[in-house]
Amino acid sequence: MTPDEFRRFGHAVVDWVADYRERIEQHPVMAQVEPGAVKAQLPAHPPEHPEPFAAMLNDLDRIIVPGLSHWQHPRFFGYFPCNGSLASVLGDYVSTGLGVLGLAWQSSPALSEVEEVATGWLRQMLGLSDAWDGVIQDTASTCTLLALICARERSTGHGASHGGLQAEVAPLVVYASAHSHSSVDKAALLAGFGRDNIRHVPHDTNYALRPDALEQAIRDDRERGLVPCAVVATTGTTTTTALDPVAGIAEVARRHGLWLHVDAAMAGSAMVLPECRWMWDGIEDADSIVLNPHKWLGAAFDCSVYFVKDAEHLVRVMSTNPSYLQSAADGRVKNYRDWGIPLGRRFRALKLWFLIREQGVSGLQARLRRDMENARWLADEVQARANWRVLAPVPLQTVCVRHEPPGLGAAALDKHTQDWCDRINRSGAAYLTPATLDGQWMVRVSVGAERTERGDVEALWATMQREAER
Ligand SMILES: *Cc1c(COP(=O)(O)O)cnc(C)c1O
Repeated sequence: MTPDEFRRFGHAVVDWVADYRERIEQHPVMAQVEPGAVKAQLPAHPPEHPEPFAAMLNDLDRIIVPGLSHWQHPRFFGYFPCNGSLASVLGDYVSTGLGVLGLAWQSSPALSEVEEVATGWLRQMLGLSDAWDGVIQDTASTCTLLALICARERSTGHGASHGGLQAEVAPLVVYASAHSHSSVDKAALLAGFGRDNIRHVPHDTNYALRPDALEQAIRDDRERGLVPCAVVATTGTTTTTALDPVAGIAEVARRHGLWLHVDAAMAGSAMVLPECRWMWDGIEDADSIVLNPHKWLGAAFDCSVYFVKDAEHLVRVMSTNPSYLQSAADGRVKNYRDWGIPLGRRFRALKLWFLIREQGVSGLQARLRRDMENARWLADEVQARANWRVLAPVPLQTVCVRHEPPGLGAAALDKHTQDWCDRINRSGAAYLTPATLDGQWMVRVSVGAERTERGDVEALWATMQREAER
């Protein structure tokens, strides 16, 4: 493709995406396809000869779009918001078009420096002190893996440069709430801690980790000769957006010398609102934080930011370059290859930078406030209606609900819940995620798609009543 052809097709693609976004409401929110239906429409073998570009665009409409669940749809209430704000989409596009790679500062100086600036802006937007340094990674799963590897290396005095975990006399232990994200367990497994050394600490009635239970678990492990190493606190758990008490956990962590990692992947975006910052009170005492601007905030996927207090420690753990300390300490440039696992990195900062500039902090704040008000409205409606229950506090934008008709046993209630949720999803009118809470099925309504307005939430609530009460 020549630059001139690119200009032509590129305009067509931008038009296509703009049309898709403009008309997204015409699509059923959840894909209505059976497994294998998309594959069945595609040739089994690659084309021997070049195809016209128009054929690809045509297949987007014909095969791809019907095979999608539409996350940018205003009636998308599934999982969590994953907003690809259009300014950010353009930033991502520019990044791909530039085709530059950050290996070291020198390989693309602007890539590193815009990342430094954009993560620095984000840090300020979140109300974090300048003790923190940020780096963009792909996902929260990766950031939490980095955190636990860093914790492991701190506990073992950089054991990885000698015998590694295999040379440790006593096992190292990681703590998190039973409501922590599955990526925490995965990170602990991948970092070599072993399933036996992951503790799921009991939570309170609001599904928040109990610092007293953490204290007890640490003492028990110490007595058994184990080495408590790290604790992961979650600000905004996946099921209910529960808020682990960071300050209380930090106090226990400090007393016992544990690394404190805060997983604020979803809810971290809300910290751009000063009125929300009580939710992670104590955050300055953590060692690391992850939050995903690619969720609620609106940076196109993937854009996860890892904040660390001790950047030199991170660089020492991640660097394979014997001269690492010089470059980390001289403070003149950042070589982000030493701030994570991959060597090469995309110019991800562009999409965050575009987003923040195009929306302004006030624009982002206004949208998040709108979403929280919409969730609050829904929670009040549900609470006020007979036989409906809101099952957990609603500090943010996720409302956990159940319709409980009188006289149903636990199994029948589960079936009822899954049935009405499934009917809504299959109808294409909206998309909701069922989940279990305390062993019983319920439905999570995650408000916060960029296009979701009050009218969409009202329509959803009407649909929920119709499908559940019929
Ligand atoms: C979404 C989420 C994750 C996982 O995020 P990825 O970026 O997909 O790895 C982890 N923790 C919490 C609390 C989340 O909301």
